[in-house]
Amino acid sequence: MEEVGTLIVGGGIAGLTTAWHHARAGGEKILLLESERLLGTHSSGLNAAILRTIGPDPLTTSLSLRSARTLRRPPAGFAQVPLIDPCGLFLVADTSRGATLAGWVEAAGPDSGSIEVSPEEFHRQVPFYGGEAARVFSFPQEGRLDIAALVAGFAEGSRAAGVTIRRGVPVKRLSTTGDRVTGVELEDGTCIAAATTVMAAGGWAGRLGETAGSRVVVIPTRRHLLITKPHESIDPGWPVIWALGDEFYCRPESGGMLLCACDQSVVDPSDCRRDDHVCEIIAEKMTRFLPGLGDMQVARFWCGLRTMTRDDRFALGPDPDLAGLFWVAGLGGHGMVCSFDIGRLAARRLQGGEPVSEEERALDPARLVEASA
Ligand SMILES: Cc1cc2nc3c(=O)[nH]c(=O)nc-3n(C[C@H](O)[C@H](O)[C@H](O)COP(=O)(O)OP(=O)(O)OC[C@H]3O[C@@H](n4cnc5c(N)ncnc54)[C@H](O)[C@@H]3O)c2cc1C
Repeated sequence: MEEVGTLIVGGGIAGLTTAWHHARAGGEKILLLESERLLGTHSSGLNAAILRTIGPDPLTTSLSLRSARTLRRPPAGFAQVPLIDPCGLFLVADTSRGATLAGWVEAAGPDSGSIEVSPEEFHRQVPFYGGEAARVFSFPQEGRLDIAALVAGFAEGSRAAGVTIRRGVPVKRLSTTGDRVTGVELEDGTCIAAATTVMAAGGWAGRLGETAGSRVVVIPTRRHLLITKPHESIDPGWPVIWALGDEFYCRPESGGMLLCACDQSVVDPSDCRRDDHVCEIIAEKMTRFLPGLGDMQVARFWCGLRTMTRDDRFALGPDPDLAGLFWVAGLGGHGMVCSFDIGRLAARRLQGGEPVSEEERALDPARLVEASA
């Protein structure tokens, strides 16, 4: 039987950043298995590619701010192109959310790089916006991510550091001996033994963990995105606009606008199909939030998985019951922005055992068992 040191299940951003950091920190005999024929096919290739750092959870905000610094200045040779298009981002709160937004910004401190702008100034800069703007914060260094470059950077860097990546290889179940995960069984019946198996299977992580009896709970949810057909009135240099209260976000994309109504519903990861009703909700919100743009036609409408946890924090660390199983899952809506820090924290715990920082303790998957018990 083939034997490896670390076997990573999943070739999305969770698996790739873990492989990249773990290999560069000295991890040996690392094998990454991806069921699709291409890396980054699911959530990591279906997201909105927005760099937004500030949110309700100070821990996730701090991880985002730190990861964003690396995205701005990635390690030498990571990518041939910038990973960020700093087109700017506005967080726009209605009356119900103004104080909340101001609280998030204050908690983030001066590192957030934000500037409060008056509603009048915001409407002057973004005349096509029709939503209520009670408090507005501008983040001039934020904006869009180059997802293809990010995924390729982690994949190529992992291979260069000695990681073996196999695509088109679905894992059927985890193999166990007593309370230890000893590797995986593939769909074709082949078994691979591993000292440590990393669960980085995105929306499928919970289901795959259950094959070994893991009690860690992660929740796959669905969200839709829509891109309009190109229109001459749209400037590709416009910033990202994210409305809080009645949630909605948009940014230019391919000559049109990418739009999201921030819908969320729990789904079976293997049956994540589009719901055309959400297309109508997005169209209705567009009419209210972007009246200045007039009628737009749909060019593309799709959905993807955001895998949540009970407290909206990542599941990052060893399984509390099963030796040999390590979780890098539940990345919610932050996996791309936080990618550099997720892998850094995963690699440290893969090599270092017990959590040493408050951050590591807060992300430990053991809390997700306690919640479900
Ligand atoms: C609509 C939407 C918008 C988003 N917008 C943003 C954003 O603007 N910014 C941001 O930072 N984040 C955003 N996100 C979140 C981000 O995309 C995710 O947090 C991130 O992609 C999760 O990465 P992952 O590797 O855990 O999952 P995935 O990318 O889904 O990777 C998991 C991989 O595991 C593989 N796999 C599953 N089961 C098996 C198996 N049995 N055997 C082998 N392989 C398996 C899958 O094929 C898949 O490739 C968004 C998500 C969605 C859905």
